Amino acid sequence: MNFIDLQRQYKEYKNEIDLAIQNVLNSSRYVFGQEINTLEKTLADYCGVNYAIACSSGTDALMLALMALGLKQGDEIITTPFTFIASAEIPALLGLKPVFVDIDEKTYNINPELIESAITDKTKAIIAVDIFGQAAEFEEIEKIAEKYGLFVIEDAAQSFGAEHKNKNTCSFGDLSITSFFPAKPLGCYGDGGMVFTDDTDYAEKMVSFRNHGQGAKYEHKYIGINARLDSIQAAILLEKFKHYEIEIDLRQQKAEYYIDNLKDFVTTPYIKDYNKSVYAQFSIYSENRQGIINSFTKDNIPFAIHYPVPLHLQPCFEYLGYKKGAFPVAEKISSGILSLPMFAHINEREQSLVIDSVIKGIKK
Ligand SMILES: *Cc1c(COP(=O)(O)O)cnc(C)c1O
Repeated sequence: MNFIDLQRQYKEYKNEIDLAIQNVLNSSRYVFGQEINTLEKTLADYCGVNYAIACSSGTDALMLALMALGLKQGDEIITTPFTFIASAEIPALLGLKPVFVDIDEKTYNINPELIESAITDKTKAIIAVDIFGQAAEFEEIEKIAEKYGLFVIEDAAQSFGAEHKNKNTCSFGDLSITSFFPAKPLGCYGDGGMVFTDDTDYAEKMVSFRNHGQGAKYEHKYIGINARLDSIQAAILLEKFKHYEIEIDLRQQKAEYYIDNLKDFVTTPYIKDYNKSVYAQFSIYSENRQGIINSFTKDNIPFAIHYPVPLHLQPCFEYLGYKKGAFPVAEKISSGILSLPMFAHINEREQSLVIDSVIKGIKK
């Protein structure tokens, strides 16, 4: 069994994906081929935003987004300590100061009730992460942002295709970013990402930033970077996207099966009734995580821990001065969270093996 079986997915769509790759090879437009434009239009429409800008990764998407907002050294960014490193790493790399706010005990997303007390006169933006594929509380977050004149960035790296109050993710805040890393719900065959916005000025800047700040060729309007997406990745994504709605439905079914069979033994994902998660991770929480891990190891079941150490306790952020105990909920969840094998094409036999092993582990 695989934690995410990318091979099985590839075999499902092999003919069309091979053909799409072959088309790019035949065109030899490896960079900025027509697939890039088509992908941007297709995904902007899907998310209900004006602009989608393809780029080289979710991490670079965050970089482009923060650059577009024109934030300055020393500006403070509020975000969650319970996320992948990129959400705070890129602000820090740009000289911005990450300020963490604890998470909600049930959804594991940033707790909007705690945001206001973290705001100072240096705060410029909130990066809200849709953790494990479920949207953060954008109505409340946007209200706070409006009150204090802050930007909002939606880190939807894990939630492309999810829904929140009848809107698709990648449409909240001033800018949204996503990732097409292979293990994300919609993954390409290498690195890839995208930024979404309704704002013409941000879009124009990010299109330029991702290609060395060029306007016309060799005319550099801005200081930029190379953050382009390859045509081959765009071609793969276009083919995979055709199946994505069905995959999202499959993910709901697989998640429900896990939840029905595990909810009496461990804490299963809590999805608010106005949200639809894409389950980038199916993560359970248990105070006896080690028991489950021992059982998995014995039964050869792959697993992952997202995330074992919250960001405020990472060595790279020691300079921020946070101590253990600063964010009790994030720390507690980190100590008991465990991600199970999850992908659209996982079958019932595999899920049953996982479920049996969890239950065995919990009882020891
Ligand atoms: C994966 C991820 C990123 C970064 O995406 P990459 O494409 O891997 O660079 C950023 N934020 C979150 C929350 C992620 O899970």
